[in-house]
Amino acid sequence: MSTSETVTFTVRPCFCGARTIAKHVTTQDNPLSSADIYFTIECKVCAPEWRLEHGHMVLRSSETEYLDARKNEESTYKPLYSLVDSLVEGYLSRFGAKSKKAELAEMTRLGITSLSYAQYLKHRSEGKLPTQACYGLRNRPWLSELATAESLDNKLEKLLSAYKAAQQATKNAAKKIVRKKIA
Ligand SMILES: [Zn+2]
Repeated sequence: MSTSETVTFTVRPCFCGARTIAKHVTTQDNPLSSADIYFTIECKVCAPEWRLEHGHMVLRSSETEYLDARKNEESTYKPLYSLVDSLVEGYLSRFGAKSKKAELAEMTRLGITSLSYAQYLKHRSEGKLPTQACYGLRNRPWLSELATAESLDNKLEKLLSAYKAAQQATKNAAKKIVRKKIA
């Protein structure tokens, strides 16, 4: 039977300075298993305010804007991609490829997929749709033409700029997150 031993060190004072941050190292009595390391904030004030992330402490309150921005980005992404997918789907169905090979060849010609034939066959055998193998936005001029033909070009442009703005907001908010190295 293997046994383990945990050793606890004080790494540094906590962020309010009242208590400490501790490092716990658990070693197994087995030369093949590596040590298991984790940190804890030994302070009732700091512990709920910070969370641990890859050797850093992240101030939770500084993440709120970022988390909201991420949610907003997701909500602008969904209508954009449902429009893009419906345009691509309409095109592929009008194209009416006689085989999966011909279908992939057309997607490749348009530059909207990066799958190989073997990958595409696997994709389809898993029950996934042709559109799920496509990223229509990679060929903007072609996509815009499809949208224009269905009088959806204004809608596409609006959704695209909303999504870009949301992405930028996420980037800006990410810069405001307070991270501190544990040690
Ligand atoms: Zn503290």
